Amino acid sequence: MSTKATVEKLVSLCKRRGLVFQSSEIYGGIAGFWDYGPLGVELKNNIKQAWWRAVVQERDDVVGQDAAIVMNPTVWRASGHLDTFADPMVDCKECKKRFRADELVGAAPASAHGHEAAAKVTRCPECGGELTEPRMFNLMFKTYVGPVEDDASVAYLRPETAQGIFVNFANVLTATRRKLPLGIAQIGKAFRNEITPGNFIFRDREFDQMEIEYFVKPGTDEQWHQHWVEERYNWYLRLGMQKENVRVRQLDRDELAHYAKDTYEVEYLFPMGWSELEGIANRTDFDLRRHAEFSGRDLEYFDEETGEHIVPFVIEPSAGVDRLFMAFLIDAYDEEEVRGETRVILRLHKDLAPIKVAVLPLSRQEKLVPPAREVWAIVRKHWMSQYDDAQSIGRRYRRQDEVGTPLCVTIDFDTLEDQAVTIRERDSMEQVRVPIAGLVAALRERLEE
Ligand SMILES: [Zn+2]
Repeated sequence: MSTKATVEKLVSLCKRRGLVFQSSEIYGGIAGFWDYGPLGVELKNNIKQAWWRAVVQERDDVVGQDAAIVMNPTVWRASGHLDTFADPMVDCKECKKRFRADELVGAAPASAHGHEAAAKVTRCPECGGELTEPRMFNLMFKTYVGPVEDDASVAYLRPETAQGIFVNFANVLTATRRKLPLGIAQIGKAFRNEITPGNFIFRDREFDQMEIEYFVKPGTDEQWHQHWVEERYNWYLRLGMQKENVRVRQLDRDELAHYAKDTYEVEYLFPMGWSELEGIANRTDFDLRRHAEFSGRDLEYFDEETGEHIVPFVIEPSAGVDRLFMAFLIDAYDEEEVRGETRVILRLHKDLAPIKVAVLPLSRQEKLVPPAREVWAIVRKHWMSQYDDAQSIGRRYRRQDEVGTPLCVTIDFDTLEDQAVTIRERDSMEQVRVPIAGLVAALRERLEE
């Protein structure tokens, strides 16, 4: 973690610059829900694209899909979510505050849903009041499909995208005529009615997941598990995360979800301590077996080499986009002294930066407007860009530094004579003069190498 980043500074920057807003803020907000603003949606899309490129496009063994959020409710019976996707909840009889019992004892990590913890704390940590007995609370959001609100029409907002992949395993296998190992990747919304959402966008009630279910022959699962742990860890480093802030941890046996044979977490050093960015689990054949049992369908794979029908094992790298968003911001945040002033800078990887190029006329002087507009028209065909002519050029550089824009292009009075512009680089603040005719090539060299 950058020692200069705090959650408070981050929340303030995110609001001020249009990265993240509290959801429905004008009505007082709603806990655990956040909105992504004009720059936030760019960064979020860039994270998703970088992931998709690495795990689908650049590989020859993973395909994509996009399943519906609302599924047949039997899915959640088969997956175990209806029975075990619950946290123990206690209420303070005095101040009415609600807590997760397992967090009060400090026993379980944030991700260990489905474990009943023995609540030993009997007093409210806020006011010292008496607490109720723990009650198990299912984290799935419930809704109704169709006009009648009865038991037969109950449905759930998915608490994970994974099940949409398991139920399509046979469809994808048939449609693509692939052999194992085969991965199916998906990015999409998931919902968890967390008892205590918090730490900004770290634990939301509505969030985006990026998940891969990688189906392998039993017996090769441990080797593929190691492969994915390395792949995923290296992805964070390739996108510029500082090595000392990222680590891989193998979960202890008592931390494992009920279906998992083994799980690793990629963790990040957040201001609140080491926390999970991504879980990489060996889910064995649990899910396919359960769905075969509950659906009555054949979800086996015919292995042509051995002539055997097998139930594949599954390695699941599962990351939360919002969490990654927060981690990338914290990691990139820096403050430095420049000529007696503090420069706030997001040292975001160029692939993640919301704006790649800012086009800045030196001043609002009339003569500079046509060439500056012309340059902007050229640039925005290629990259997400921004035109800014308000206030001094120094202030505008700072504004771009603060949101991580890697390159600024400045149009000045010399441009009128020499048809050239200045490219200014974010981290080094170095400036180089290039002809407008060669601008796209010069920017491409800096942005796409
Ligand atoms: Zn209390």
